[in-house]
Amino acid sequence: MTLNEALQMKTEKRMAAMDEADKKRRELHSFLPRIKQIDAVISDIPFRALAGESAESLKAEAESLNAERARLLAAAGYEADFDEPEFECTLCNDGGYCGMKLCSCVKKLMATKNYAKSTLAGGLLDKRFENFSLSYYAEENGEKEKMKKIAEGCKKYAESFPENKGCGLLFMGGTGLGKTHLSAAIANTVSERGFSVVYESAQQIYDTLDAVRFNRMELSEKKKYESCALLLIDDLGAECITQYSVSALTSLIDLRIVNGKKTVINTNLTLQSLKKTYGERLYSRLLGEFTVLQFVGKDIRMQKIKEN
Ligand SMILES: [Zn+2]
Repeated sequence: MTLNEALQMKTEKRMAAMDEADKKRRELHSFLPRIKQIDAVISDIPFRALAGESAESLKAEAESLNAERARLLAAAGYEADFDEPEFECTLCNDGGYCGMKLCSCVKKLMATKNYAKSTLAGGLLDKRFENFSLSYYAEENGEKEKMKKIAEGCKKYAESFPENKGCGLLFMGGTGLGKTHLSAAIANTVSERGFSVVYESAQQIYDTLDAVRFNRMELSEKKKYESCALLLIDDLGAECITQYSVSALTSLIDLRIVNGKKTVINTNLTLQSLKKTYGERLYSRLLGEFTVLQFVGKDIRMQKIKEN
């Protein structure tokens, strides 16, 4: 969703709220003629001010008319704001701007729409901190305790984003240990808080970068990985590894580190194979700038299959 589309959507909301209020006002006017008179006088007040009437006496007149209006409404059994437009955002009255500044509701709308559109997100919207279950982790070796700490750390990360230390999180560990669940929970929370989030697998990201390189896709498709507030790279190392894929993903991660942008990466690779695949430079940057979280336990997916 572009900024123009978001503003258009807000404008439509605003118009709909105003239309609804107009309809209610006409309804009032049809059986409370005194309110119709009052509204006519009130709407004339700005013109009388322009014509030079004293601002003070006009203000007093408006106040007394509004008070009379409220009394009439109450007597007829209506709330005083019965025919006021009900805007979705009370900061900008759905105009999209607070003064000269873009309202936070527009940014939030764009972030949510764009995130929900990103390919992986569709199936991951239900993965939340509230439904991350620790019951699949054993008490032995402090597994459950370790995972509880990791889950709490992730939640704190998402809630305090972007005021976190370092450039991001690196989730390590085998398949089915909850890495995707917790990274999706971070993505959902951060996106709901109004930040731009992109969540894709390393393979999807590489495919897009490759398509942009050969002009099969717009440059903006590449830019979104560079400019989003939070990028989540799922399954780094599971993509088809080539010299190009390694260099494309390494440059992207590197660029985000240099620009102080946050990234959450999850991988099944061990530190050794990470180093072997992506090279010494990225390896040491990841260890230096990222918080490494080592997931533990037994494959949850396998445990769930056995249960059924
Ligand atoms: Zn707003």
